[in-house]
Amino acid sequence: MGTAHLQIDLGALAANWRALDAASGPDVETAAVVKADGYGLGIAPVATTLRDAGARTFFLAVAEEGAAARAALGPDAAIMVFSGHMPGDAPLLREHALIPMLNSIEQMTRHFEALPGHPFGVQLDSGMNRLGLEPVEWAAARDLVMAQRPVHVMSHLACADDPADAANARQRDAFRSLTEGLGVPLSLGATGGVLLGRDYHFDVTRPGIGLYGGLPFAEARAVVRLTAPVIQVRDVAPGEIVGYGGTWRAERPTRVATLSAGYADGIIRAMGNRARLWHGATPCPLVGRVSMDLLTADVSHLPEVPEALDILGPQGGIDDLAEAAGTIGYEILTALGARYHRTYL
Ligand SMILES: *Cc1c(COP(=O)(O)O)cnc(C)c1O
Repeated sequence: MGTAHLQIDLGALAANWRALDAASGPDVETAAVVKADGYGLGIAPVATTLRDAGARTFFLAVAEEGAAARAALGPDAAIMVFSGHMPGDAPLLREHALIPMLNSIEQMTRHFEALPGHPFGVQLDSGMNRLGLEPVEWAAARDLVMAQRPVHVMSHLACADDPADAANARQRDAFRSLTEGLGVPLSLGATGGVLLGRDYHFDVTRPGIGLYGGLPFAEARAVVRLTAPVIQVRDVAPGEIVGYGGTWRAERPTRVATLSAGYADGIIRAMGNRARLWHGATPCPLVGRVSMDLLTADVSHLPEVPEALDILGPQGGIDDLAEAAGTIGYEILTALGARYHRTYL
């Protein structure tokens, strides 16, 4: 097989949902964020696994993601859309029974005119300044909006991956005062918010990255394994270069393996000369630049010529690889390419 192999452990995904669900009280509903094609792992297998684990409410980024999610989940799941009701969304929202989280007065006007009586939620800005009604807008609109009976009111934490950040408590308190006495299910916390504790759980939590095995859920089980086949191995003499631009030069006789995966597959170019691949528990440093379809790694220290190396595996997960590229596990997952041979366990 010429392409790298991406193994997605759906049992680990379900276990991560159950672990995050157990981190909040029995009266708190644990939803699941499955935007961006289930963080790059495939909306249908991801969503159905989480539904079978017990999730009832699912969050997407945009209405365009709704058709695939609804097809996978069937009619009973609640599917919510963070970006709200954008121009032209009405047919999608109606056809797939999606619930937009309305972010502005403009979106509310659009929604109430285009889809009167269609369920909606409200997103409030509690300090992140990204999406949601500002507190002054909410103060003015609250009574009118509540009369239309929203099914959910939410906000989002900017700094929840750092429990010590004072912004967390500020946002929690702001959200509390904005939602006092509403009598509607409330949500504030994503993965980070679940881990911040009870005060941040409200009625519904919205974990994403922790389900897929990423930080800040340090106890998460790894969900992905990515193994690239070795196409060719060569011995490089001292002074010779490897790869585009000759950014790596052998200082001693070096055995270099060329593997099938590159930046077109989401192996971010900034990892060149920085990341490590793995042969079992033995690290093999990337040497030279990452090409579109190829990687080169130093395998001099291996007792035999390897058939394949792990890019993601038991030794190095998404957050380790992210660190080598100066990014985060979220970007590693969502960048995973379409070219891999995918197996769901
Ligand atoms: C992406 C997202 C989430 C999930 O966040 P994680 O950090 O992946 O758990 C929750 N809520 C909102 C509004 C989001 O955009």
